[in-house]
Amino acid sequence: MNTLTTRASSINRALDQIGDKWCLLIIQEVFWGINTFSEMLATTGASRGVLSDRLQWLQKVDCLTKAPGRKGGKRMIYRLTPKSIELYDSALMALEWERRFFPTLELESVTLLHRTCGHVFTPQMRCGKCNESISIYDVSYKPGPGAARDEREKKVRRRSSLSVQDVPSKRSVYRNLINIVGDRWTANVIALSFHGFNRFEQFHEELPVATNILTDRLKFLVEHGIFQQVLYKERPPRYEYRLTEKGEATYPWFLSILQWGDKWCDPTGAGKPMRLIHKRCGHTLHGQVKCSECEKVLNAQEVQFDIGDPRAA
Ligand SMILES: [Zn+2]
Ligand SMILES: [Zn+2]
Repeated sequence: MNTLTTRASSINRALDQIGDKWCLLIIQEVFWGINTFSEMLATTGASRGVLSDRLQWLQKVDCLTKAPGRKGGKRMIYRLTPKSIELYDSALMALEWERRFFPTLELESVTLLHRTCGHVFTPQMRCGKCNESISIYDVSYKPGPGAARDEREKKVRRRSSLSVQDVPSKRSVYRNLINIVGDRWTANVIALSFHGFNRFEQFHEELPVATNILTDRLKFLVEHGIFQQVLYKERPPRYEYRLTEKGEATYPWFLSILQWGDKWCDPTGAGKPMRLIHKRCGHTLHGQVKCSECEKVLNAQEVQFDIGDPRAA
C-alpha cells in the first residue's frame, strides 16, 4: 500500500484532515459566512471538480454538513460543525501572522471587534495557566500517553492550477500562510523544526518521503523566507535549515492546530501523542487565544469580523 510511517503527531493528524490548500480556503470562507457551492466557486476560484472533491472530503472528516437552506428548498448550505468551529483559533492566529508579514491596505482595513468588551482587538496566544504570551522557545515536549507511530496514506489529490495568490476572495485574509502550510510536507517539515530538527538527514529520517520531494519543499521554504540556510560544514558544504523570525512566528498557528488535533483527530483514543510544557510556569501547556484588550478567551460567536473599504481609509 502507498503509505508511510511517521511519529504520531497531532499536527500531522490534523493537517492530514484539513491542511490541504483548498480545504483551508474553504473553511475560511465558511467562517466569514460564505456557504453555498456557487458562492464558494466564485470566491475560491477553484474548479468545480476540485471544489466538490474537497467539500465531500470535509463532510467525510466531519468538518462540514450540508442541508437545504430552507425546508424543502433546493439550495444547499454548507455549515461548520462543532469540530470545525474550533478551528476558529487557528484562523485568528493565521490572520495575525499575515498582518505582520504581508501587510496590505486590504488587511489593514480588516477589523476584529470583541463584542464582549466592545473593543477592536488583536488576538494573542497565551498560556491558560500563567496568562503569558507563548513563544516558540518557551515550550518543551515530552511523550504523551498516545506516543506511537502513525501509518499515513500518501494520497494524491486532484490539484488545481490556480495559485493561492490569485484566489479572488476579499475574505481570503491569510492566503500567504495557506500557501506556505497548505502542502502537507511543508507543514510537516516546519513542525519538525519546532522540535530542533534542522538537517536534511534528520528531516528525512522523520519524514520518509522521496528525497526529491523533501529537497523541493525545503527549497520552497527557504525561498519563502521561512527557513534560512546556515553552513555547518565546509567540505563538502552542508547546510542546516533554521527558522527565520517569520518561520518562528507561525508557531501560534501550529499550536492551535496541534491542540485541535489532540481533541478531534485521535484515531486510537490513546490520548495525546505529546505533552507540552510551558517552561515559564512549569505547567502542562494549554494555549488559549485571547483578546488583547480584555484578556478574555475569544470564541467565534463573540467576534465581529469586518472587511473595511481600503479606499475609504
Ligand atoms: Zn504558563
Ligand atoms: Zn475583549
